[in-house]
Amino acid sequence: MNARVIDGKAFAARLTQDIAQAAGDLAARTGTRPGLGVVLVGEDAASQVYVRTKTRQAEACGFHSVQADLAADASQAEILAQVEALNADPAIHGILVQLPLPKGIDADRVTQAVRAEKDVDGFHYLNIGRLGAGKQDQAFVPCTPAGCMMLLRDALGADLSGRHAVILGRSNIVGKPMAQLLLAANCTVTIAHSRSADLPALCRGADILVAAVGRPELVRRDWIKPGAVVIDVGINRVASGDKSRLVGDVAYDEAAAQAQAITPVPGGVGPMTIACLLLNTLRAAHRHLNLPDPA
Ligand code: NDP
Repeated sequence: MNARVIDGKAFAARLTQDIAQAAGDLAARTGTRPGLGVVLVGEDAASQVYVRTKTRQAEACGFHSVQADLAADASQAEILAQVEALNADPAIHGILVQLPLPKGIDADRVTQAVRAEKDVDGFHYLNIGRLGAGKQDQAFVPCTPAGCMMLLRDALGADLSGRHAVILGRSNIVGKPMAQLLLAANCTVTIAHSRSADLPALCRGADILVAAVGRPELVRRDWIKPGAVVIDVGINRVASGDKSRLVGDVAYDEAAAQAQAITPVPGGVGPMTIACLLLNTLRAAHRHLNLPDPA
């Protein structure tokens, strides 16, 4: 079998176009542009790239965007004050605090300080609770799993009922919300993690396999049920001669020989995460105006 490549980059580009169109419609109708506020603390190179990409894409969609840069030695109080300023700013509908935060900062306190209705990362306990309670339509869903669901439905059709989904990884950002979304989509869900026994056997039972562990090419050919759909969330930088390259949590060539469809790394889940952040911000602006979510 030679798996279909699930082109997340192209999907995200189409979604971003639709978001730009909807943002333009909203501005024409109400005079309001969706507003995204980003807090970046310190000089971590990868975080700077992520933040630049997010703000640039927000602006390309016609959003209002504000970026607050704080020094690496900023105190917790200074970071919280910045979050409060964005909470109070009526032109800002979505706030994201770029993680990781420097050592010594209580990241939970900072992410929980973002008002739930501006929490476009979906990290606030209210949004986590709504998702867990099956009130997805009232929540902000974390961007990476939301993007994975779109790619899965693109590959398998809207109805995922009855499929066995196995998720490798149980982080609050990816694994757990992914499990909630698949459960809400009527899948039978298994969550595996570093203490799970016999991962290969668990994975071989999966019609849908989502890998989010941060271990380069952990998932091998014989872990994959023939005909499965594989979503590789992992982004791992590995040495390659004098340079480095990005690989996922799945050994791509091996998996592609077994699977029906698979996301590449890069160009799979990554671009969807940013598009879903913009979508959540667009939704936040609609909710702020008491308008229904855009289709
Ligand atoms: P975390 O480190 O927070 O969580 C990793 C999870 O994987 C944990 O639940 C851990 O188990 C589990 N795990 C680690 N090693 C193994 C192993 N050998 N076998 C089984 N399970 C294991 O990572 P994240 O969820 O934040 O991210 C996962 C990956 O996805 C990373 O590569 C990250 O870079 C990438 N990522 C990509 C995004 C994108 O936009 N494409 C966005 C977010 C993340 P335990 O709980 O027992 O420790």
